[in-house]
Amino acid sequence: SEDVHTMPTAHRIRCTGDDVPTPIAAFDELSSRYSIPSELLHNVTEAGYSEPTGVQTQGIPVLLEKRDLAAIAPTGSGKTLAYLLPIFGLLGAPVRSATNQVGARALIVSPTRELAQQIHNEALKLAKGRKWKIVVLNKATANALRDKAARKKVDLIITTPLSLVSALEDGIVDLDHIRHLILDEADRLLEEGFLKQIEEILAACSHPDLQKAVFSATLPAAVEAIANTFLRQPIRVIVGLKDS
Ligand code: ADP
Ligand code: MG
Repeated sequence: SEDVHTMPTAHRIRCTGDDVPTPIAAFDELSSRYSIPSELLHNVTEAGYSEPTGVQTQGIPVLLEKRDLAAIAPTGSGKTLAYLLPIFGLLGAPVRSATNQVGARALIVSPTRELAQQIHNEALKLAKGRKWKIVVLNKATANALRDKAARKKVDLIITTPLSLVSALEDGIVDLDHIRHLILDEADRLLEEGFLKQIEEILAACSHPDLQKAVFSATLPAAVEAIANTFLRQPIRVIVGLKDS
């Protein structure tokens, strides 16, 4: 529709960084531009999402181009899908032959259990009919991960910092193969109370091609400065009102 093409302006998106990719005007552009499978786009439609929101128009291509990202957009603006859709696109088809299983390749960190659960629900909608193994870390799932073979089958981990750090200390998660790390509600995660845990998590994600992104409704300068210590040539996407 005509509206779709005016969306980036309507959402007042500002970007900084080198080689910012062109935003998408519609989800179906993702099949030609990034070979996103039709099953995944079908699940987006099934979830009732007909057009990308502002943060999605710009954030999705940035993540699909494997760039680091700092995305700042208001609460309720669809930040969850802005990272989940690219993650599923980048994970590719679920790998289910025993020899190819390396363990989790994507990690989402959220400040609270409740938010982690909401992210999980959104992820299940997108992953419907596809065989990715998604785990929210808690006592029960952590127990199942004591089995090394079970651990290798996981594709995506969603967790709070505390659950992850304790699982790392127990030696039941291995983050060596994580390629995509998302810090959701980054303003809270990079506050004093969580910072030590986030540093431990960053240190444990040892893959040289690790892509990192922070998502937040607000990112005060001091917090962004912390994010910039670990983001590599990030693109910064800010969605907001004209004068904000
Ligand atoms: P945020 O993390 O920015 O606060 P959420 O990711 O929780 O926002 O999304 C807020 C609501 O918008 C959710 O109910 C979600 O299902 C819905 N939503 C996300 N993307 C779209 C879209 N493209 N079109 C319509 N609704 C959407
Ligand atoms: Mg959110």
